[in-house]
Formats: sequence, C-alpha cells, structure tokens
Amino acid sequence: MSIGEKAEKLIKNEDLCDHCLGRQFAQLGHGLENHTRGKIVRNYGEDLEEKHFDERPESSTGGECGYCNGIFEEIEDYAEMVISSVDRYELETFLIGIRPPEKLLEKEEELWEEHGLEFTEPIKTELSRLIGKKVEEKTGLKVDFERADIMAVIDMREGKDRIELQVNSLLFYGKYNKYTRELPQTEWPCSECSGSGCDECNWTGQQFEGSVQEIVQRPFIEATGAIDAKFHGAGREDIDVECHGQRPFVIELREPLERNIDLEGIQEEINEDDRVEVFDLQETHHDKPAEVKDLDADKTYRAWIEVEDLENADLAVLEEIQGMVVQRTPQRVDHRRADKHREREVKSVEWKVEDDFLVMDIKAEAGTYIKELISGDDGRSEPSVAGLLDRNAECVKLDVIDIDG
Ligand SMILES: [Zn+2]
Ligand SMILES: [Zn+2]
Repeated sequence: MSIGEKAEKLIKNEDLCDHCLGRQFAQLGHGLENHTRGKIVRNYGEDLEEKHFDERPESSTGGECGYCNGIFEEIEDYAEMVISSVDRYELETFLIGIRPPEKLLEKEEELWEEHGLEFTEPIKTELSRLIGKKVEEKTGLKVDFERADIMAVIDMREGKDRIELQVNSLLFYGKYNKYTRELPQTEWPCSECSGSGCDECNWTGQQFEGSVQEIVQRPFIEATGAIDAKFHGAGREDIDVECHGQRPFVIELREPLERNIDLEGIQEEINEDDRVEVFDLQETHHDKPAEVKDLDADKTYRAWIEVEDLENADLAVLEEIQGMVVQRTPQRVDHRRADKHREREVKSVEWKVEDDFLVMDIKAEAGTYIKELISGDDGRSEPSVAGLLDRNAECVKLDVIDIDG
C-alpha cells in the first residue's frame, strides 16, 4: 500500500484528530510534530507523498477524536501536574514516563491491525515527548534519556490520574582513612538482639558506637535531605585494624532533595571526627559502586608481631613468605562460612625489630588473610611467619598502610 492509499483509508474510515492521524506517519519527515503531519496527510489525502512532509501548515492540537478522546488538549495540565509534583526536588534533568489509559491501548491495537504499523509510533511516546517539551519550556529543566535526576511516571489509567516519582540516587566517590581500632566500616547489628535493640546495646541495635559509614553519611544526608544512604567500600578492614592507605568508597544518597552541595564543607565536617579522615570527595556516576567493589587492589599492611623467643629467631627465612600462599577459611571467621582453600600472592615483605616486636610490612594480593599469614592458624595458612620461624607468632596490631590504585 502506498502512503497515499494509507492516508485515504485512514481519513475515510477513522475519526482521528491531527495528532492521531499524523502519528501513523511519525517516521516520515524531520523536525515536525505529529499534529503537523496529520494536517499534511489531511491536505493531500490519496495524493500524499513523502516530500509533502517538508511543508508546515497550520494544524490543530486536539479536538474531537475517536481514538485519543482529546487527550492532547490536556498536555498543559499534565505538564503542570509534573511540575508541582517535582517542586520540592532540586533538579537539572528529568524524564517523563506514561502509563496510557487501557482503552487507548486497545484502540491503538485495533488501528494498527486495520492500517498497519509501518511509519507509526506508540501514543505514549508522543505524549511523553510533548509533556516533556512543555515541562522544559516552563521550567528550564532538560529531558535526559540516559540518567535523569527524576523520572516522573504519569499514570493515566482509569481512576488513577497521578504521578509516581522515581528519584535517582546521588553518588559521591572518595577515599577514607580510619584511625581507631574500635570502629567497623558499616553498621554492625548487636550480637544480643540482632539489631532490634536491647539493654546490652543501650537500645541502639548496634554492637559498636558508630561506623565509618555513619560518620561519612551524616553530613551528606543533612545536606541533601536524602532518605538514607548506602556505603560501598573497596574491601574492608577488620574493626581492630587501622587504615592509613586511603581506601576508595562510594556513598550513595537515596532520594535526595538537594543535588548541589558544598563538598568541601562536607569533607571538613566529616574530618572534624578524629576517627576518620576522607579525601578527594567528588560526584560520580552510577557504575562506580561496582567498579570500587571489584577493585581487587594489592594492599600493604604493617603488622606488629609478638614472636616467642624472638632474640633467637633466624629472621632471614622470612624472605620465603613471598610467593603463593594457600589459606583455608580462618577459624575466627563465621562458622557458617564454608571451609575453602584460597590462593593468594604475597608480593613483598620487609621487617625490622622494634620494642621487642617483629614489625613487618607485607604487600599482598586483595583477599589475603594477614593475621593468619602470621600465626599460621594451626597449619591452615601455608607458609606462615610462625611456620617459617618455627615458633609461635601472633599479630597484635595491624594497619593498612597502602592501597594500590
Ligand atoms: Zn486523537
Ligand atoms: Zn542489642
């Protein structure tokens, strides 16, 4: 069927407004809206050719229609609905989603069955484009198909007529150090009550007072009005391990009201707490949490080790700890965790004796159990410092001093 034949059949058999007539030819012509297409189709009828879509006649933007029931006359109202529903959010970009009335979708199916769907576009595409343009015009906000600050879904179904907002998270990347041996990275539920609150935890539900996450997220939540936050660290250190190696993290703020915040001020505020220091805060993208989690960076640790009969130990053998080490799941780790063997590489070691301690700097692949690399964990870590020295060795203090990348 030629487009002229299609045009004639549509005009003759269907009672369509310019929008709905033009939409059946949506993929023909450039830089015009469907209602202008509709007018052109009406003007030429069976003589319609593709070149006619270069013309720009006056068209009507709604009116009687057996298809859409005049929904295009409500574009302005829907735009206003969107604007007032996002009013409390600070935004630069948005996207409109449409749940069309059920009857409209049925009619769309019928029309396509009768006249074919070559050249057409769905009515929800036209509605969201026109409402989006109207909102842009009235507010100066921009439509963004990739990563809008807010997605406003207009529910046009029978009896609904409401807007659902999906507010995109706001993410910041940074690095942290931790200068205490009494602070977990993220929240740690109380072991007595599992988080519901009891006398043991002073009804906080937490085993420890605060966490790196809690110290970092508080000023962010205050500044953005987010409902809560997620903390994604590039690995984690044990509670009793200090971190001086600047560990990368991403903080994800859910449903923020504000998006332009004073990062320098927030960094200063976080760093007023002596237990944690953050560096290089910057806004980041939604793929960053996964990137940070998969970082697998080599880490360098400084371990203070108590060695039995240290003065008589032959420390030169410690060289041999470099290379591959095989470790079973440590005994101290949750007993519900499966007992597995893992292989990791110890990249380099340096040591000295200081105040009756053996002090070792150990650079190892991500995931190496350092405390067990030292103690041997009853033969479950091989080789080990204790095994090589042939005497008891125990890590009494551990710091992360460098993280690669
Ligand atoms: Zn219509
Ligand atoms: Zn408790």
